[in-house]
Amino acid sequence: MKTRPFGSTGIHVPVIGQGTWYLDESPRAVDALRAGIEAGMTHIDTAEMYGSGAAERAVGAAIAGQRERTFVVSKVLPHNADRSGTVAACERSLRHLGTDYIDCYLLHWPGSHPLEETFAAFDELKKHGKIRSYGVSNFDVDDLEELTRIISPDDIACNQVLYHPSERTIENRVLPWCAAHGIAVVAYSPFGHGALHAPGSTAKKNKGDTVLAQIAQAHGVSVFQVALAFVTRMPNLFAIPKAASLAHLNDNAAADELALSANEMKRLEETLPTTASSTRLPML
Ligand code: NAP
Repeated sequence: MKTRPFGSTGIHVPVIGQGTWYLDESPRAVDALRAGIEAGMTHIDTAEMYGSGAAERAVGAAIAGQRERTFVVSKVLPHNADRSGTVAACERSLRHLGTDYIDCYLLHWPGSHPLEETFAAFDELKKHGKIRSYGVSNFDVDDLEELTRIISPDDIACNQVLYHPSERTIENRVLPWCAAHGIAVVAYSPFGHGALHAPGSTAKKNKGDTVLAQIAQAHGVSVFQVALAFVTRMPNLFAIPKAASLAHLNDNAAADELALSANEMKRLEETLPTTASSTRLPML
């Protein structure tokens, strides 16, 4: 599995990882996560929000006995993100995960608690070894600029944002801003939270969907693999698809080997829908 330095952390993290939203704690879910780790998708994204701790517990069961192989990301909910609430949320997540550190801890989206409080708590957690780095999620450029009036961009490991073939708003401003500041960009919902159209689907398709399908057919791979290649085509991009089924999981892991030509990438760039430059960063 290809790896890249994860922003300013410099830690090499697999380009394709695993999401856990709507993953339950069943043996099937834990087995899927373990199979993903075996396939090299050791970058695992979770959050206190997902199943109110159930997804974190599934991750905990999957990483047990192999913690050092994995790069675990979790997130504090904005309404918990005051100074003491952030520390308490992190400690709860650590218990659910059955580990004594989180590799990268994120503010799930901008909320009403002052950023000074959240990031003072992140610093305290880092000082005590409970988190190894921190970052943000769903931060538009104005949110990032507000944050960098408080902390250095060098301290923001990543910005995890919505990015998939039919949702390219980050390309307007967020992606270039993060690239210029050495911040990793993690594409969440790379299949549009399951909305990506597989060939044969009767859903309404745009021109880009057709090109995705043509390129997938030419390489003998799934449209999901082409989507992963597209959303990770720049050096600061990572993706965290979620797959509870082993077939999907293996398909996603195999996307690592797919190399699209410059011409194929150009066709995708030109046909997949874009948004107006004034569009605010959307979130799920
Ligand atoms: P997604 O990864 O875009 O799509 C997941 C869906 O696609 C599931 O129904 C899955 O089915 C299916 N799938 C996966 N691989 C497939 C393949 N190769 N072929 C066909 N179908 C496939 O959706 P997501 O869960 O919204 O996003 C991924 C992760 O991003 C989340 O799990 C979460 O960790 C993170 N996220 C973060 C935020 C945030 O605010 N920071 C928001 C949303 C998501 P099966 O599960 O049945 O295999």
